[in-house]
Amino acid sequence: MNELIKKAEETHNLSKEELVTLLLDDNLNQEIFDAANRVRHKYVGDEVHLRGLIEFSNICKQNCLYCGLRRDNDEITRYRLELDKAVEFAEKASSYGYKTVVLQSAEDSFFTVDKMKYLIGKIKDLDLALTLSIGEKTREEYEEYRKAGANRFLLRIETTDKELYEKLNPGMSFENRVRCLKDIKELGYELGTGCMVGLPGQSIESLADDILFFKEIGADMIGIGPFIPNHNTPLNDSEGGTFEMSVKVMALTRLMLPDINIPATTAMETLNPKGRLIALQSGANVAMPNVTEGEYRKYYELYQGKICVNDTPAHCRSCITGKIGSIGRTVSQEYGFRKKSCSSGGCSSGGCCGGC
Ligand code: SAH
Repeated sequence: MNELIKKAEETHNLSKEELVTLLLDDNLNQEIFDAANRVRHKYVGDEVHLRGLIEFSNICKQNCLYCGLRRDNDEITRYRLELDKAVEFAEKASSYGYKTVVLQSAEDSFFTVDKMKYLIGKIKDLDLALTLSIGEKTREEYEEYRKAGANRFLLRIETTDKELYEKLNPGMSFENRVRCLKDIKELGYELGTGCMVGLPGQSIESLADDILFFKEIGADMIGIGPFIPNHNTPLNDSEGGTFEMSVKVMALTRLMLPDINIPATTAMETLNPKGRLIALQSGANVAMPNVTEGEYRKYYELYQGKICVNDTPAHCRSCITGKIGSIGRTVSQEYGFRKKSCSSGGCSSGGCCGGC
């Protein structure tokens, strides 16, 4: 076996140079995917956690160059769900057996702290774990949602290349993004972050930095997907990321952070019809089936070609369960919180596997 992959599998520690070496060598991809699959099996087991995704608003005050929901895009139909409609989708998610719902939206100021607290309270009454993915907020706001019962928060760093980040996210600052992530962590949420792969101007070195950043910030979950150019954005002519490179960054993330939760992302399946299955066999242990109903799904258009936009939540539930079974894995019946493992160095804050 390649020495660096062996080192990664045994120590979960590679330097930036070592990560770059692996990222540059395309002949090693399958070996990296297999090593990540073994580490996934060893640390988080064969169960796949399902998170029901509710996309409750696509109205955005931000103008990120890559995103179809950006405020200057007038080619999409905008919507926001009534609060009780979102609660109804969560109830249905619970009835399908999901133990977690993810409330995701664009950055929509309509959803004030009071409205969010109402939503969080109603969903927590359903005995579900709750992840929020609603963008940049003040520390006080994050604290309010946390007190109201939200368990996890998902906010991708997108890229750790500060200059690129600020170019792609006009009016936003890299420092504030990192501040958000630190606040989220300190407030006791499970912290989810991640990046896109294949952004215009993104270097291999910065992808290695992304992986090291995930470790440094203490992420509990990492979502990685290819950047897919959206026709209605200024980046419509870009090349976009490849499936292979996205899986590779994800697999290396598994090798470096062995016990975290890693979703097989929708964007991966958009580029490859077997994308999520390949991801689940290359380090991923989570899937996020959509539980948004009706036409809203197709209006939450981050990029074109998003999978499953015409499917019902019931169809998605049975489809993903079948896929998971087809590779000999099972659907978890638990909430799916991160179980920190001693050898990942994660046990200092408690809640570890108990073997230390
Ligand atoms: N407002 C929320 C949710 C944003 S959408 C937030 O800021 O966290 C969720 C994710 O979709 C983004 O973090 C981004 O990584 C991804 N995304 C947006 N546009 C994309 C594109 N064109 N291709 C691939 N992924 C994209």
